[in-house]
Amino acid sequence: MTSEISTLERYQLFIDGHAVDSVSGATFDSLNPYTGMPWARVSDGTPDDIDLAVAAARRAFDGGWRQMPGWRRAAVLRAVGDGIAKNSERLARLEVNDNGKLLREMRAQLEALPEYYYYFAGLADKIEGRTVPQINPSRYFGFTVREPVGVVGAITPWNSPLLLLTFKLAPLLAAGNTCVVKPSEHSPASTLAFAQVLSEAGLPDGVFNAVSGWNRATGEALASHPGIDKIAFTGSTATGIKVAQAAMNNVNKATLELGGKSAQVVFEDADIDAAVNGIMSGVFAATGQTCMAGSRLIVQDAVHDTVIERLARRAADIRLGDPNDPETEMGPLANPPQFEKVTGYFSIAEEEGASFACGGAPAEDLGSYFVKPTVITNLKRDSRLIREEVFGPVLSVLSFSTEEEAVELANDTRYGLAGAVWTENVHRAHRVAGQIRAGSVWINDYRVVGPGMPFGGFKDSGVGRENGVDAIDEYLETKSIYVELTGQTRDPFQMG
Ligand code: NAD
Repeated sequence: MTSEISTLERYQLFIDGHAVDSVSGATFDSLNPYTGMPWARVSDGTPDDIDLAVAAARRAFDGGWRQMPGWRRAAVLRAVGDGIAKNSERLARLEVNDNGKLLREMRAQLEALPEYYYYFAGLADKIEGRTVPQINPSRYFGFTVREPVGVVGAITPWNSPLLLLTFKLAPLLAAGNTCVVKPSEHSPASTLAFAQVLSEAGLPDGVFNAVSGWNRATGEALASHPGIDKIAFTGSTATGIKVAQAAMNNVNKATLELGGKSAQVVFEDADIDAAVNGIMSGVFAATGQTCMAGSRLIVQDAVHDTVIERLARRAADIRLGDPNDPETEMGPLANPPQFEKVTGYFSIAEEEGASFACGGAPAEDLGSYFVKPTVITNLKRDSRLIREEVFGPVLSVLSFSTEEEAVELANDTRYGLAGAVWTENVHRAHRVAGQIRAGSVWINDYRVVGPGMPFGGFKDSGVGRENGVDAIDEYLETKSIYVELTGQTRDPFQMG
């Protein structure tokens, strides 16, 4: 996929502190989904480049980063945060070029990113072990130390490249690990440009390496590489399973942030305008291309028609267009396969006899990858629109009569990433939030995240958590050290 246009911006791999071409010298072009044109030419890394990057990360791990005192690593992390703050506009625009999401969305994400580095900088010098009481305290003194896992392979999706990388990078660096990052083939530019920001912030050469690649083989080479110690993956559940299996073949650790089909549960006593607003933000913001999209609406019978009617009215007014225009509310889908997938679900809904309260078609007048915000009703609970992640601006609706039924429907999914409860009844709000089997639940709001709040999935939505104080544990090993206190030898045939 190489275009002949010569004015494309150029992005190279980043290995051992240097921007480099791939070993093969091959490139691929990154498509701007709004213009439908290639805008950047990117080095096409292969397993050979992954080998070089892993070797560089290993040298950096052994060469001092992990031994650096935590407060010095923290200083580098704070400088990274400052560097992002200085470069946020530039990096946000690269992401818009690559994935077509709104500039105001990507800008807000980039402006929030420094906080994640400052947060984990605060933990870098508080990585502590324990002294552990022993069964035979006169003979043994025991304590634990926490050590970095080693070289981490990080694989990221196209929808929020630097945010989702940061969820991994800030804690892994704070813990003293090094890494090789493989960004999505659909949105590699911001990660490759970010490498330079990390270098300028003082990150030693080899601590961060990034290898883009058009073919699946590049990601596979990283996930299965014998030279890494852990894989941190964000993407679809289907790919996550393959990545985890590859990691397991090397007995490597894996954290997985995967897909979702999150429920918005609306009770009849909810503030309906607030709920409609939250539902819109959950499924139409970012053109529905967020893992935590609230793509299943579960609404109480008494307010079903009101909610659908208001949603359809608001959805019809959403301004679709140029993602760089501050007036735009929804951009295109991010790439051709996404467009095929989302429009395919419109056909499935028709085949299943569902009704479209709004949308259900491409927005043809706007260009290649636009679809209309869509609300689908008259669905059965085993419909594919209820069961499967669409990853687009498509809301699938079911109704309920009792609280018990609402909880049962909310949990009737293989996924468990997020959910929301809309009610003015504080008792019910807590009761229902407590019963939803998902990693994040909002009460009367949606799509709020921050560095201090753990994020991740129950069930098929993932393994492990990102963000929050415990996220650093995902990048640490625990070592137990026993000290013999008596100086006497003991029976060699008996366990101590
Ligand atoms: P994807 O699974 O297709 O790809 C994710 C990454 O994996 C890409 O970099 C891709 O090149 C790489 N990859 C693909 N096949 C691979 C293989 N066999 N081995 C190793 N790497 C491989 O996902 P996507 O389409 O880029 O992103 C959308 C998905 O990501 C959705 O399912 C969404 O829910 C999920 N997601 C989850 C979160 C979360 O935090 N839970 C956040 C954002 C997106």
